[in-house]
Amino acid sequence: MEKVLVIGACGQLGSELTLALRELHGNDNVVASDVRPAEGQLADGPFVILNAMDKEGLEEIIDNHGINQIYHLAAILSAKGENDPKFAWDLNMTSLLNVLELARDKKLNKIYWPSSIAVFGPNTPKDNTHQNTIMDPNTVYGISKLAGERWCEYYFEKYGVDVRSLRYPGLIGYKAKPGGGTTDYAVDIFYKALEENKYESFLSEDSYLPMMYIDDAIKATIDLMQADPKDIKVRSSYNVSAMSFSPKEIAEEIKKASPGFEISYNPDFRQKIADSWPNSIDDSEARDHWNWKPSYDLSKMTTEILDGLKQLLHY
Ligand code: NAD
Repeated sequence: MEKVLVIGACGQLGSELTLALRELHGNDNVVASDVRPAEGQLADGPFVILNAMDKEGLEEIIDNHGINQIYHLAAILSAKGENDPKFAWDLNMTSLLNVLELARDKKLNKIYWPSSIAVFGPNTPKDNTHQNTIMDPNTVYGISKLAGERWCEYYFEKYGVDVRSLRYPGLIGYKAKPGGGTTDYAVDIFYKALEENKYESFLSEDSYLPMMYIDDAIKATIDLMQADPKDIKVRSSYNVSAMSFSPKEIAEEIKKASPGFEISYNPDFRQKIADSWPNSIDDSEARDHWNWKPSYDLSKMTTEILDGLKQLLHY
């Protein structure tokens, strides 16, 4: 029987991934946790308050609930991390090491921890970026994710911890607001399209970035975690990809549904972060090793988000 703990469950990814995991494993077998209280459907299942930096608190929850799988999602993201780099480093690293240490000591079955395209940097080849390439991140977030990947591989190689990871691109959904990343514009734009029929982008019109609809991110995560361990040949973190677009291109797509929609551009400090990341990702190893395949492109995602958001916001 799988007993799952999700750390950072109230965030953009966790609030949807937790519900998918409850579908899969049964409501009572998935304990959600966060430093802030649960809202909405998340509160319909087991929930505990946990600061991921508190190793003893984490150990107590593992023991009390008989946890044997952890999805560790809590992190300070790219744009937010630049406001307080030391804190971002401490939180991202300490929390991961707490999880890896307890996974080893308590012989937990499986750990999931997300990395990011932020592990790449200004000298990384930008197009179709390969799994193994130059990695020189220049944000504290990217540095912490690259270090985290090395730790994951280390705990697998040295201690046999079955830890699995994906390098998510920018994640786009509409049910939860994003938590301070460089790709957040691609979520905000849909809200502003419905509320004001215009949007001021904090990235320039031609800033191409790899992106993924949240349903695909959840599918990739669950597929990876369900895969046979012998098929998982990358123990740092897998490149995964679905689509790449610029602010101008997503605006064009929204205009197909809302012809009067207008976009303007006012790049801020996040432009520099975006400029250091790839335009597109080569995810052939994820496709070959455990049959990863995305289901959403820009057009399908735009239609689904606009329809869903209209219902959510009662337009
Ligand atoms: P988010 O900021 O929306 O959510 C993070 C959650 O962690 C929040 O609910 C927050 O309250 C919680 N948290 C913060 N500090 C905590 C602590 N000390 N203890 C426990 N919980 C704490 O982030 P997200 O977008 O849901 O991202 C989830 C994971 O996916 C992160 O590891 C992130 O780096 C990774 N990721 C996200 C994206 C993206 O575009 N959203 C892209 C690449 C990777």
